[in-house]
Amino acid sequence: MKYPKLRELREAIKALIVGPYTSKFPFKPHQPFDAFRGRPKFYEDECVGCTACAQVCPAQAIEWTDDLKRKKRILNVRWDICIFCGQCEANCLSVTGIRLSRDFDLATLKREDLFQTIEKDLVLCESCREVIAPYDQIIWVANKIRSLLFSNTSLMLAFLEDKGFLSEESPGISDPTLRADRFRLLCPACRRKAIYKS
Ligand code: SF4
Ligand code: SF4
Repeated sequence: MKYPKLRELREAIKALIVGPYTSKFPFKPHQPFDAFRGRPKFYEDECVGCTACAQVCPAQAIEWTDDLKRKKRILNVRWDICIFCGQCEANCLSVTGIRLSRDFDLATLKREDLFQTIEKDLVLCESCREVIAPYDQIIWVANKIRSLLFSNTSLMLAFLEDKGFLSEESPGISDPTLRADRFRLLCPACRRKAIYKS
């Protein structure tokens, strides 16, 4: 007859006293530990729309497009292809724009439950209508560089527009370009042209 080893005997007695290690999920909600990497979620008020998270995502689970007609940047995180690596959270420009939750139960029959979409207002060049940056990103930069903001015309104008100090609709760029056009919201390429031509 074989006797149980001491270690197994100790485990058996421990299980009798403290109960089994396994959880009662799905009959009782399971609480993952604090550092668990679950569904990443955008926090719209804290995200500035810079797309850094999309660029570092190894699974390409974060997609973004610019809708120039609506002047919106659309960011989309797809939980069906996310690998929960946490790179988006670790490299987020605003630090708290996207965070991994402890939400692990992704089972669903509805496609719309498998992604989250947020939108950011865009600043466009007054001349060529190219995207300069989202307003929130410009405000983020403005808060970092403070008074140095006034050394960059486009940053300053976008900041003042966002704060409601520039309410008038822009008259657009003059043709031929005038010296005054250098004080418009322009992308770097159009600003160079305006400087050379005026
Ligand atoms: S956790 Fe990883 S895979 Fe998922 S969205 Fe973030 S970077 Fe992409
Ligand atoms: S602020 Fe963070 S969450 Fe928002 S787009 Fe940039 S990196 Fe992504």
